[in-house]
Amino acid sequence: MALTLFNTMGRKAEPFESLEKGRAGFYGCGPTVYNYAHIGNLRAYVTHDLLVRTLRRLGYEVTHVMNITDVGHLSGDNDEGEDKMVKSAEERGKTVLEVADFYTRSFFSDTGRLNITRPSVVCKATEHIGEMIDLIKRIEAAGFAYSAGGNLCFDIGKFPRYGDLALLRPEELRAGARIAADENKRNPQDFVLWFTKSKFGNQALAWDSPWGRGYPGWHIECSAMSIKYLGEQFDIHGGGIDHIPIHHTNEIAQSEAATGKHPWVKYWLHNEFLVLGKDKMSKSSGGFLTLQSLIDDGYDPLDYRYFLLGGHYRSQLQFSREALDGARNARKSLGDRLRLLAERAGGAVPAAGEALPETVTRGRAALFLKAFDKALEDDLSSPRALAELWGLLRDPETAPADALAAAFNMDQALGLDLAKAAAPDRAKADGNLAREIEALIAERAAAKKAKDFARADGIRASLRERGIVLEDGPAGTVWRKV
Ligand code: AMP
Ligand code: ZN
Repeated sequence: MALTLFNTMGRKAEPFESLEKGRAGFYGCGPTVYNYAHIGNLRAYVTHDLLVRTLRRLGYEVTHVMNITDVGHLSGDNDEGEDKMVKSAEERGKTVLEVADFYTRSFFSDTGRLNITRPSVVCKATEHIGEMIDLIKRIEAAGFAYSAGGNLCFDIGKFPRYGDLALLRPEELRAGARIAADENKRNPQDFVLWFTKSKFGNQALAWDSPWGRGYPGWHIECSAMSIKYLGEQFDIHGGGIDHIPIHHTNEIAQSEAATGKHPWVKYWLHNEFLVLGKDKMSKSSGGFLTLQSLIDDGYDPLDYRYFLLGGHYRSQLQFSREALDGARNARKSLGDRLRLLAERAGGAVPAAGEALPETVTRGRAALFLKAFDKALEDDLSSPRALAELWGLLRDPETAPADALAAAFNMDQALGLDLAKAAAPDRAKADGNLAREIEALIAERAAAKKAKDFARADGIRASLRERGIVLEDGPAGTVWRKV
């Protein structure tokens, strides 16, 4: 079976065929860095990571591009509300760039702890203003832009495919039911490409442009940067489902208007929300959980990754402590199982990343690997992939070393650090050794007392062979490693 992805454009599962054989270009919308990422945001990035790891596992050379939004994102996605970065900087008494720098670092610290592979390209909006201006010029030259109320807007009336991604009906567009109409705009869904007449007198970042000094709208950055790094048409674009009706809908309109090429993106991948109670977890509401808050409560970041992989990316996932505890326990059992197999495999524990031995590729473990890949190829079904991992580890007929080799191979896609989990627990091993030595010291003392010097000397000699020396002193016998 080949990889099948559910394409939001058209709402159906489609076989994945990349534009260029053996290569895949993926753009995933990155964070707006005005606050910490919450664990709902991190669901989006674990989904992107699962996609990229799966593509690489299937042999694609992947270019993964992610933007950092450090300008232009208003609290309402459709040109309404306050500038998120400016507001955050004011509240914190910092500059916008200081705020952006701080939360960008914190974002990558979180993604690192979640074993999320760093994208091939990470690009900041503020470093690509030139590309945005160039793209807007092309949009304007193609006749899709007009000036209104001092800002440059995109005229969706000129773009017949507007709303295809979100299945927006024409009557909805006309009525403008979703958004309050701005009297300067020709259509309620028209959006700003370039703000010149800022609503905010204190706009910290502004650039010169053919339309006056100002700053870009939020959507244009993703069009400009994805085109720069992936070309005018590319394979996959992703983000959370909240991006479907406005952000991604607008990105498509701008990009296709500028280049005249259709489709701009072949596959649209959207992850469902992480929800807390009845509500979507959201950054602006303030009531959100960070990865650090889970760590402070004693969870390992990979417990959260395991929890996320336990749900399909297109299903809503309900967060609760109980559910996270369940994931933690499952991951602990996974570690216990892996260590047991490692013990049974003796010296034959394979190193992660090693090529699979023939006993695996031609043996029973291959059945699990095949089912594992099939699950991922079926629109990234991580819950089924995890079930195959468990099936493999519990299979009585797979040799321990083969089970470990296959599990480490599966981990290329799962990113659960299974090789580390399989390593013997040092502290526990040290504790066991200490107990064993203390017992032998007590046995030696008893042997001496019973004048069984041969046994006493035998114990000392066998420990010496293991690199442990006994020293008799006034306070009794002590031991040390040599
Ligand atoms: P932002 O930093 O707000 O631009 O969001 C970053 C990413 O997180 C976007 O792809 C959003 O669609 C996604 N996202 C936001 N809230 C959630 C949530 N509760 N669950 C899953 N994804 C989310
Ligand atoms: Zn975007």
